[in-house]
Amino acid sequence: MEGSADLDRTRHFAEQAVASMAARRIPPTPHNFAVWYAYSSGSNPALARAIDILDSNRIEYTPERNIDLYEQLLGPSREAEQIREAGERISAAAAVVLSLVQKAGAGQKSYGEALGKASGTIEDISADADRMQVVVEAILDETRRMVAHNEEIVGKLAQSSQEIDVLRRQIETAQRETLVDALTGVGNRKMFDMRLRESLKLALEEGGDLCLMMADIDHFKRFNDTYGHQLGDLVLRLVARALTDGIKGRDVACRYGGEEFGILLPKTRLEDALKLADQLRSSIGSRRVIMRGDDRDLGHVTLSLGVSCYRPGEPAANFVQRADAALYAAKRRGRNRVASEREVDAGELMTATVKPA
Ligand code: GH3
Ligand code: MG
Ligand code: MG
Repeated sequence: MEGSADLDRTRHFAEQAVASMAARRIPPTPHNFAVWYAYSSGSNPALARAIDILDSNRIEYTPERNIDLYEQLLGPSREAEQIREAGERISAAAAVVLSLVQKAGAGQKSYGEALGKASGTIEDISADADRMQVVVEAILDETRRMVAHNEEIVGKLAQSSQEIDVLRRQIETAQRETLVDALTGVGNRKMFDMRLRESLKLALEEGGDLCLMMADIDHFKRFNDTYGHQLGDLVLRLVARALTDGIKGRDVACRYGGEEFGILLPKTRLEDALKLADQLRSSIGSRRVIMRGDDRDLGHVTLSLGVSCYRPGEPAANFVQRADAALYAAKRRGRNRVASEREVDAGELMTATVKPA
């Protein structure tokens, strides 16, 4: 009976998922289906919250938005799984260490008891050299046994501590991987959010201006349509590399989503951030992308950039939103240009709050 109730429920969630996708004009691919099934079944509250926010802002479900949602569905659980596995192995290694320590304690206790017995005998037989000899031999035996026992334990402890060290490094790698964008090798959105929080904290504690650049590749859809997604991916890597090469010190560039990058510039005044943004824009836009191998010339790839400066105490979202609004002002004014938050009017700021990323 229970089996058929399960089946009914599953079918109901599946039907809801298909209907939700249709209502939002989302193609029913397996990945999208996984996302919307999770939404219908309520199995992933964070994902459901993200979708409700998108819906309430009437944000369009673009292909890259759908990919982001799918990654959100997979991301945290994959990370949790890796950390859970490593945790299990660490606790197994810790149990071994604990039992060795207990064994060492037990060994020492019996050694202590043997020595105690021997010293009692020595007091009794202090005049008898032969018996003394026997007792000394017994002590020596016990000591050798103890040394061997300890050597074994030291060896095993060293092995366990090596194992723990390897696991610690594996955890570090797993954690790092969850912050890096696999395609471009720069930080991903999660890393951006983390660095943003850290930078805001630092700006409040140490003072100094904190600026943010949002950079978006111009007409990238057209590029993909003309040359294919694979070359599009290559361009994303080139742009990520050029951005990272063009910044220094505490600055950090992350892939914010799709073909958009967020660059945090601690201790930088708005004027300097604007200059840097224009340098990045012109150095990327002035190159031609040439395919190695067949020397195919894919033309120029240009960026539009928006720059904002943190106002101490404001919510992080406002800071990001102003950079976004400036970016969209740069787009509207013709692309391949930089716009400052100062050029954004209230209307543009409103538009940026509901625009698709
Ligand atoms: P705009 O100048 O207004 O930014 O135009 P656009 O075409 O760049 O912007 P739009 O938002 O219309 O399209 C973004 C494109 O970026 C569509 C999508 O295929 C592409 N894109 C997003 N992520 C990736 C990716 O990981 N690889 C590739 N090849 N393309 C991507
Ligand atoms: Mg674009
Ligand atoms: Mg974009």
